[in-house]
Amino acid sequence: MIDDIKLTDNRSKHDLPSAHEHDGSILTDDDQPVFLIQEHEATTHHFDLRLEVDGVLKSWAVPKGPSTDPSDKRLAIPTEDHPMDAADFEGVIPEGEYGGGSVLLWDCGSYVNLRAEPNDDGVSMAESYDDGKIEVWLEGDKIVGGYALVRTDSGDDERWLLIKMDDDEADARRNPTSTEPESVISGRKLDEVAEEAEDDES
Ligand code: MN
Repeated sequence: MIDDIKLTDNRSKHDLPSAHEHDGSILTDDDQPVFLIQEHEATTHHFDLRLEVDGVLKSWAVPKGPSTDPSDKRLAIPTEDHPMDAADFEGVIPEGEYGGGSVLLWDCGSYVNLRAEPNDDGVSMAESYDDGKIEVWLEGDKIVGGYALVRTDSGDDERWLLIKMDDDEADARRNPTSTEPESVISGRKLDEVAEEAEDDES
């Protein structure tokens, strides 16, 4: 058991991603709004996409996560707004609490509202959300490029689709949710987040 813990410690030091400049907080950089994508092992495994809009994180649960292939349409189910101070959370939410299970910060960065650009229709993110049509340029470590979020059903069964826009960053061969599972702030995988929380308890 002691050997296991030593291995864990060595591994996590060596695996810390040197290429990434995150210092534990994703909110330090500049005035640009942030986005983040968490991988979340709760009742069902899913990804959570969150976009900073007017001081809160608008949120969607995306069962399969984002695709880099414009021909994929990924279901995105709106969830509660999250507070900004939860933006860089990674760890384990206790069972019995809302969203209980392990959470990994899979990607994060800043974004640009493409609909607000001068050559588009000048629409704010809040208006885009109300319209059910959001177009953003995401500048993450794993996810880069234009993405559209389109509401397809309203009311109690509100449903959106997350679709990669067809730009230079589109790549039908990449499958980053499978091939790049490591956290952008800790280098850990989701099962390691869960295991290390268990080690801390014992
Ligand atoms: Mn979730």
